[in-house]
Amino acid sequence: MGKILAVTNQKGGVGKTTTCINLAASLVATKRRVLLVDLDPQGNATMGSGVAKNELERSVYDVLIGECEIERAIQATEQAGYDILPANGDLTAAEVELLDLSSKEKRLAYALRKVQDNYDFILIDCPPSLNMLTVNALAAANGVVIPMQCEYYALEGLSALIDTIGRITEVLNPGLEIEGLLRTMYDPRNGLTNDVSAQLTQHFGDRVYRTVIPRNVRLAEAPSHGLPAMVYDKQSKGALAYLALAGELIRKQEKPRQAISA
Ligand code: ADP
Ligand code: MG
Repeated sequence: MGKILAVTNQKGGVGKTTTCINLAASLVATKRRVLLVDLDPQGNATMGSGVAKNELERSVYDVLIGECEIERAIQATEQAGYDILPANGDLTAAEVELLDLSSKEKRLAYALRKVQDNYDFILIDCPPSLNMLTVNALAAANGVVIPMQCEYYALEGLSALIDTIGRITEVLNPGLEIEGLLRTMYDPRNGLTNDVSAQLTQHFGDRVYRTVIPRNVRLAEAPSHGLPAMVYDKQSKGALAYLALAGELIRKQEKPRQAISA
């Protein structure tokens, strides 16, 4: 059964979508089967994976409101190598429409259950807020990946997110764990970056990924070609950093198993 990871942070522009696309492609490069769920009405993960968001016949919206089976809304990407459950602006309406539906927080969880065996990893790209869509992602996930920029206000936003995760764990999804905090757009020459980074490690210890994602122009360019950096320029620093992150994630995942067999 695939591991479901919600990539979330209520702050916009911290690298959630970039992380989803490039981690998905890196996991594929290491022969894992991956589904990327775009849960942001902006549809950036959809476009960045080479899927035209305005030409979708079916999207995650239809799945959430029960208009279509998840298998029919998932599509293969042409070059990125993973499957995607795409999104577009229709999803904005889901936030309101979900409120009137039964099990409104669990609809994504129930849908993903049907396809979980087909994948090794399912990554969910969350919108930049702690709304009903994000609640659905957290209710469906086994782990949360939190991308963050090491800047002054980063830690402040983090406590609200950790509180939310705690509440979801209590009432909806007891198995939910913080899988890891990911430092993105990292610039080691910046003193503040280093300070915030040190504070993070102090608070969260080994839940901070060792891999850091550098600021890299290829990561910013690749989406306009509808490609992950791994495909657009696989030797770029950005692509290599996400490949290292995939390795770290896989090792973390496989560790308990090794311990049992040892
Ligand atoms: P979010 O999904 O959290 O809103 P994005 O992944 O869309 O954030 O990133 C915000 C912007 O920063 C995008 O234009 C993206 O291309 C750029 N970006 C993200 N990560 C990097 C990076 N490591 N280096 C350079 N640009 C980046
Ligand atoms: Mg995004």
